[in-house]
Amino acid sequence: MVSINTHKVAAIFLKYQQEIDQYHKNAYKKLLQFKKTNRLKNSANKFLVKIIFQFSNRNFFTVDNREYDNLVKEIGAVPKLKKKFYGKQKQTYLKDEILNILNYKARRGDFFPKCFQILEIKSCVYCNSQLTISVEKEDSGISAKFQLDHYYPKDQYPYLSVALLNLYPVCAACNLSKSNNIVNFILYDDNFSNNFKFEIDKKTLSDFILDRKTDVIVNFKGDELFEKQFNINAIYKTQSDITEELITKSLIYSASYRRKLIENFSINKINDSLINRFILGNYSEPNEVHKRPMAKFMQDIGRDIGLV
Ligand SMILES: [Zn+2]
Repeated sequence: MVSINTHKVAAIFLKYQQEIDQYHKNAYKKLLQFKKTNRLKNSANKFLVKIIFQFSNRNFFTVDNREYDNLVKEIGAVPKLKKKFYGKQKQTYLKDEILNILNYKARRGDFFPKCFQILEIKSCVYCNSQLTISVEKEDSGISAKFQLDHYYPKDQYPYLSVALLNLYPVCAACNLSKSNNIVNFILYDDNFSNNFKFEIDKKTLSDFILDRKTDVIVNFKGDELFEKQFNINAIYKTQSDITEELITKSLIYSASYRRKLIENFSINKINDSLINRFILGNYSEPNEVHKRPMAKFMQDIGRDIGLV
């Protein structure tokens, strides 16, 4: 729903450079080994050769998402190939082997959750209505309480399964709705001014202020397909109580009340952003939307009615 500035991702790559280089080196070595020991034929062999060639030129964990279109065109989708994989005849043999070589499962359990923690993503990047968090396990390690959506689906393009900029932490419902489709939203993008916005219907707003009974309508404006795919309007229709609370706050919280708040708390580090967060009951800055569910909805309404 809201993009993340890529400089944050670049900082992660820098911080874990050694680790990431090692992941890549291991995967590359295993790819070469796999090619040597499995004499694949035709399309499968061509596919593997293309991946190996691209792997020799770039690190697939850090590859820029502006390169994805070309890579996908160049390498293509994984061919179906029925062969034995861990004792079972599987048509997805080649895809499963590649995921295995990239050590996808392990990275899914350690490295990626760590990245999303640093990026402060705690809510579904599609609907922003559900938590997508990682928790510390009692014994050790991290347990990821979210599903990982691949912008370019891993079933077709397994070589992009470990590319961080291809990974979107999402809730189960959104992941199911999205399936293997491509969505018209890029999460890692420097352009924050995307077109997704919640807008309050002014007629129902004024009616509500007058009679305190009218249901205030909030519409999600933006990509129609995105709205339909994730049922955005239907999700947020259930949150009309939040809308009412925000409107009521906007009627109560005057400018002088706001000044008073700042005066009263001046001993601590109280700034405008924190006051807005307190008044809104959620994070108030556009680049903080991922920190808590419902933030985008509450921010847009809050701004629309002059609360923050
Ligand atoms: Zn979701």
